[in-house]
Amino acid sequence: MSTPLNLRFLRSGTRLDQLPPTAGEVAFVGRSNVGKSSLLNAIGGRKALAHVSKTPGRTQLLNTFALGPDRPESEPGPTLMDCPGYGYAKTSKAVRQSWGPMIESYLLGREDLRMVLVLVDGEIGPTPLDRQMLDWLRANTLPHTVVATKHDKVKSAKRAKRKKDLAEACDLEPGDVVWVSAAKNVNIDRLRELVRMWVDL
Ligand code: GDP
Repeated sequence: MSTPLNLRFLRSGTRLDQLPPTAGEVAFVGRSNVGKSSLLNAIGGRKALAHVSKTPGRTQLLNTFALGPDRPESEPGPTLMDCPGYGYAKTSKAVRQSWGPMIESYLLGREDLRMVLVLVDGEIGPTPLDRQMLDWLRANTLPHTVVATKHDKVKSAKRAKRKKDLAEACDLEPGDVVWVSAAKNVNIDRLRELVRMWVDL
């Protein structure tokens, strides 16, 4: 098993100029409840950390974490951005309207953004909002990878078909999608390795 990524919360913000500098960043996006916090905790290894992003006041912010060996804040290193979840039914209209511009300006303007991980619920497949996110990333030629969560929730007899269907619904080949389970530790090592590769750790 590979070692955890050593995630340390750095700062929250809504605008590019509020974010800490980075030497290479991987962003996590996905709808609320897709399993983003569970996945960050799984790859980060230290349980409580991703819950930072779930504390009141931070759920609608861009939350930056440092990755890899400890270093002084004056020395930028690799980072991970936990982007606020989209599509939460109870979100107010004002929040829904500000989410788009915030996330778009972050994704388009962040220097050294190496990869956008689009989390899709493996049990239910991409929602219209997930499809919209993928279309937008493609239209802007931003590097992205689909990560299907909750692999353990798909019965083994249905997995092959589900993998094919989910990939197709995302306009991808099955081999392009990284299937993970935070609950059952499926492909967590693989995802850690990919993140390390993307940020040169
Ligand atoms: P977030 O809103 O995207 O941060 O999602 P959470 O990490 O809070 O997870 C949402 C729900 O899905 C919670 O009830 C989790 O326990 C559940 N969940 C997350 N990851 C997994 C997984 O790998 N397997 C299963 N079975 N449930 C999961």
